[in-house]
Amino acid sequence: PLETTKNIWHNGNLIPWDKAQIHVMSHVVHYGSSVFEGIRCYAQANTAGVFRLQDHMQRLLDSAKIYRMPVPYSAEQLCSAVVDVVEANGIAPCYIRPIAFRGYGEIGVNPLKSPVDVYIANFPWGKYVPGNGGADVCVSSWSRLAPNTMPSLAKAGANYMNSQLIRMEAEINGYSEGIALDVNGYLSEGSGENLFIVRNGVLYTTPLANSVLSGITRSSVITLAKQLGIEVVEQALPREMLYIADEAFFTGTAAEVTHLSSVDRITIADGKMGPVTKVLHDEFFAIVNGLKPDRYNWLTPVNVK
Ligand code: PMP
Repeated sequence: PLETTKNIWHNGNLIPWDKAQIHVMSHVVHYGSSVFEGIRCYAQANTAGVFRLQDHMQRLLDSAKIYRMPVPYSAEQLCSAVVDVVEANGIAPCYIRPIAFRGYGEIGVNPLKSPVDVYIANFPWGKYVPGNGGADVCVSSWSRLAPNTMPSLAKAGANYMNSQLIRMEAEINGYSEGIALDVNGYLSEGSGENLFIVRNGVLYTTPLANSVLSGITRSSVITLAKQLGIEVVEQALPREMLYIADEAFFTGTAAEVTHLSSVDRITIADGKMGPVTKVLHDEFFAIVNGLKPDRYNWLTPVNVK
C-alpha cells in the first residue's frame, strides 16, 4: 500500500493528501491523457537533494508539448513546486511524482476542450526491480510502441498500458522484468528502464530511434561512462547481444543501476555484477549519496528536517 504524506501540490497550492481527488468523468480516466515524471530525492549526510530536477521538469513539459497539452507553469515554477512539496512533507529520501492530465470537462476523445490539471506528490519508495544478486529477466512477447503509433519520447500515462502487459507477463512467468523488442525486432527497453550491454569493454545502449524513453538515468550513465573513459555506442542491438553480453544492466529513476543476472534463463557471464557496471553503479551512488562531489550539479538541495 502507498504510504501517504501530508500534502500534495495542486495547480499552485498545497492541499491535503485526501483532498487530491478527481471526478470519474475526467478525460484522463477514460483515455489515458496524462503525462508524468518519476524523480528521486536522495539523502546525503546533512542534506537532501532532488536528482536532475530541471531535466525531469523539462521532459514533463516536452511530453505535454507532444500531446498539445498546455501546462501553465514554467520548468522553474515546477521545480520550486517540487521543492515546496518535499519540504512541506519533510520526507527524504523519497520518490516524487509530478503529473499533468486532462481533467473534468468534455468526454469526447478530443482532449483540447478539457482543462489541464497539475499535481505533484511525493512518498517514500525503495528498490524497484527485485533481485538482490541481480535481476532475472525475459524478453517480452510484447513489442514496444511502434513509431507513429504512440510517441515513446513522451512519458505519457497511456504508454504504460504497454508497460503493464510487459511487466505482468514477466512476473507471472517468474521473471522480475521484461525487455521489449521494438517493432523491427531490435532491443528496446524494459517496461520502465533503459537497457545497457557491455561487450569487450564497450558500453552499448539502444538509441532513441528504437522506441525508448529518453531516460535521465540513461543520460547520467552515459555522461559518467564517457568521463571514466569507457567507449559508449548507441546503436540498434539484436536480442542475442543480451545472451552473449559480458554485462547487462537497467537504468531508471526507480531501478537506478540494476544489473541483469540472466535473460530468458541464460546466465549473463557469471550472473554477478560485472566490472564496468560496478564502476558506473558505484560512481552513480557516490554522487547521489554525497560521498563524492556533485560535479555535474545533478542535485537540487531541499531542506528536510
Ligand atoms: N523507459 C521507460 C519506459 C520508463 O518508464 C523509464 C522510467 N521513467 C525509463 C525508461 C527510465 O527513465 P529515467 O531514467 O528518466 O527514470
